[in-house]
Amino acid sequence: MAASKSLLDSLKKPEPTNFRMTDFRRELHLRHKREEHAKKEKLRALQESKYVSRYAITIDTSRARSNCDVLRMSIKELGFKEYPFGRKDNCCDVHWHACHFEENPEVFGGKVNKFPGMSEICSKMTLFRCLDIMRDLFPTDYDFYPRTWYLPAQFHEFSCEIRKMHERRVKPKPTFIIKPDTGAQGDGIYLLREPNEYSSLSGKCHVAQEYMSNVYLIDKFKFDFRIYVLLKSLEPLEFYICQEGLARFSTLPYENPTNKNIHESFMHLTNYSLNKRSSTFNRSDRDDEGSKRTLTSVLRRIAMNGHDSNKVWKSIERIVCKTIVAIVPEMKVEYQAAIPPGKTGPSCFQVLGFDILLLQNLKPILLEINASPSLSLDSEQEVSPGVFEYVLSPKDEEVKYPLIRDTLLHVVPIDKLKYFRKKKKQRLLKKLKASTSQKGKRPDPPVKQRTSIVIIKADESDEEKREVNVTQQMSEMHMDVDSHGDGTARDVNSDDERESNIKSDTELDEEVDNYFETKLRESCLKQLYPAIYDEECERYRILERVAGLFIFFLGIRGSLRIGPTGFRTFARKCRLNRKGMTNASVDIMYIDLQRRWDHMNPERTSGKKGNGLCYQGFLDACIEIARRKFYAPTKIEMLENLVDHCELNLNLRDNDLANNLPRLHFRRLGLQYRQGSMYAMPRRVIDQMTEETTIEDLLKAHEKKLRQPSREDIEAFLRKSRRMIYQPSSGSRVISVTKSPDSE
Ligand code: ADP
Repeated sequence: MAASKSLLDSLKKPEPTNFRMTDFRRELHLRHKREEHAKKEKLRALQESKYVSRYAITIDTSRARSNCDVLRMSIKELGFKEYPFGRKDNCCDVHWHACHFEENPEVFGGKVNKFPGMSEICSKMTLFRCLDIMRDLFPTDYDFYPRTWYLPAQFHEFSCEIRKMHERRVKPKPTFIIKPDTGAQGDGIYLLREPNEYSSLSGKCHVAQEYMSNVYLIDKFKFDFRIYVLLKSLEPLEFYICQEGLARFSTLPYENPTNKNIHESFMHLTNYSLNKRSSTFNRSDRDDEGSKRTLTSVLRRIAMNGHDSNKVWKSIERIVCKTIVAIVPEMKVEYQAAIPPGKTGPSCFQVLGFDILLLQNLKPILLEINASPSLSLDSEQEVSPGVFEYVLSPKDEEVKYPLIRDTLLHVVPIDKLKYFRKKKKQRLLKKLKASTSQKGKRPDPPVKQRTSIVIIKADESDEEKREVNVTQQMSEMHMDVDSHGDGTARDVNSDDERESNIKSDTELDEEVDNYFETKLRESCLKQLYPAIYDEECERYRILERVAGLFIFFLGIRGSLRIGPTGFRTFARKCRLNRKGMTNASVDIMYIDLQRRWDHMNPERTSGKKGNGLCYQGFLDACIEIARRKFYAPTKIEMLENLVDHCELNLNLRDNDLANNLPRLHFRRLGLQYRQGSMYAMPRRVIDQMTEETTIEDLLKAHEKKLRQPSREDIEAFLRKSRRMIYQPSSGSRVISVTKSPDSE
C-alpha cells in the first residue's frame, strides 16, 4: 500500500524545473543555431550568385540531352560553370539546348544555340527553294546542288521532265531520289526511275532530286562529308567553318543505279545512322580506315590520289558561304517574328551540319543542311548478336570536342571571361607571395615549389573550389611562374622577383588578351565571313534588302505574313502606281501569289502562321514587278532597280522610317548609315554619271536638296556600290564609273 502511495506521489510530483529549462534552452539554442546557419547560407548563396554573375561564365545544359557529354568536357576544359538543371535566379551566359528555339520561350537573355525558325528553314523544301531563287538570279554561281522538284505541288513538271529525258534517250538512264521534306537519317528516302513509282499516300511533302550517280569513290565506296559551320551572328553576319569534319561511308561497294540495285540503301545512302546497322560496317579506330573517317584523312587521301585537295576545300567553303547568304533573308524574317524590335530576348548562334557529296570530277554538291547535327560522342557496338553497347568513339571525339570547345569560346561574353581570368590570376599571385614570405625561407627546388602551389589552390575557400577547372588553372599558374623560357620553375623567394610576380593591371590585361588571342588563333574554327568572303558574297546579298521591305510592311509586329492592306501600302508608299501599277493589278497579284504559295506550302498553311502572303511569295511579287516595270538586261539588275526605287520612295533619310528597318540592308549596296542619318543617291544622279564625273559634280547635283550629303557620304556610297575606282590625280580625285559586277 505504502509502495503504491509513494508511486502515486511520484507521479503527481511536477517535473524538475531544471530539466525543463535545459530542454527549453537547448531548443532555443538549436533554433538560434538554425537561424544563424540559414542566414549564413543565404549570405553565401548571395555571395555566390554575385560572384557567379560577376566572374563565372555560366552555361545552362538542362536541355542539352545528347550534347551533354561533349559540352561537359568543353566546359571543364575552359573553366566555365555548368548549370545542369538551369538557373533560377538569373539568366545563364549560354543556353545550350538540343531542342528548337521555339521550345524555349522562358529564355530572355544570354545566348541560345538555336536561331528561330531554323529547323523549318533547313527543311529540304525551304532550303532548296531559297537556293532556287538564288540560282534564278545567279545561274552560274548557284550550280552546286541537284535539280529539285517539290512534290506533290510540282508532280506534273517532274513527270514531264522524266518523260522528256526518256524521249531524248539520256544515258545513263536518269534516276531520281525522293526525300521527305522534314526527314532525317535517311528515313523515307527511295530512288525511282518512273514518275508513277512516287507514292503520295502518306500525305507528306517530298523533294525529288536528280540522283548524282557519278560520285567520287574511295575503296569502291560512296561517301559524303559532314562539314560543321558556326553561324555566330546574323546582324552583322558572321560565320565560321570547322576545319575538321567527318566522312560517312556506305557499306556496300558502289555501282551505278540499275533496276536491280536501286533498292540497296547500304549502297546508295551514306547516312551513319543507317549504315551502322549493316553487317559490313567497319568500326576501325584508324583515322583513314573504316566506315566513318575524319574529313582531313579523306582530303589527304584525295591528295595522295594526285588531286588538288585544297581546291576541293575552297569549293566547299564557297558552297557554305553561298548557302548561308541564301538563307539569311528567311532567317531575318523569322528572327523579327520571334524577337520583334523592342522585345527582350536572347541573342542566337547555331552550329549547322552541311552534308556534301563529291562528284567524280571532285565538284562538291550540297545535299542538305542539318539544323541539329549529332554531337554525341558515342557509337553503337554489337557486343553479341543483336546486343548493342554504347562506347566512346575516338573519331567523333576528335572532331566534335574541339568544335564545341571553340564554339563556346567564340560565343561567351569575352570581357567577362577576361575579367574572370585576371582576377583569378591576381588572387593566385597574391597568395603565392603571401605563402612564400610567411615561410621566410627559400622555397624548395622547382618540383616541390609546384607542389606548394597545388596546396595553396587546394586550401582555397569553398567559393573558389566551385570553379570547375582547378587543375587547368593550376597548370596555368605554373606557366606563369615558369614563364621564363627555360621551362623550369623559378626561385620566387627573392624579394625582387616576388614583387615582379605581382603584376601590374596593364601587364595582366595584356597577358590575358594574348592568351585569348592565341586561343582563338589556334581554334579549329576559321572565319569565312566577313574575313575571307565578304567582297565575294556582297553581290548575293540583294535579297536581304527585299526581306527588309517585307519586314517593314508587315502589319502586325512579329508576324510572318503580309496582309492585303500591307501589300497595298507597299505599292502605294513605294509609288509603284507611277510606274503603271494600278490598285487593281496590285490586288490581283496579291491574291494570285497568296494562293500559289499556300498551294506550294501545304504543310505551312496560312492558318498556322496567320493569313497572308509569306516572304517567298512577296519576293516572287517583287521579281514579277521588277520584270514588268523595271526592265533591265538581267534579272538581278531589274530587282536592284526595283529595290532602289522602293527605298528612295520610302524616304529612307527620314530617321523614323530608317530606324524601323534592319540597318544592314541599307549599309550594303549603296546606302550609308551614319550618326542616325542615311544617305541614298537618287537614281537620277546615278544615271547621269559618266566616266568623267567627279565627286564635286555629284555634290553640285545635290545643291538644291534640303539635306546636302557630305563628301564622305558620296564616297562611301560609290565605294559600297562598286561604281568607281579612285584614281588620285593632281589636285582632285577622278571617278571613273565602272559597271557594277552584277550587271555584267
Ligand atoms: P537525310 O536528311 O535523311 O539524311 P539526305 O539528303 O542527307 O537525307 O540524303 C541521305 C543520303 O542519300 C545522303 O547521305 C546521300 O548519300 C544520299 N543522297 C541524297 N541526295 C542525293 C543525290 N541527289 N544524289 C546522290 N545521292 C544522294
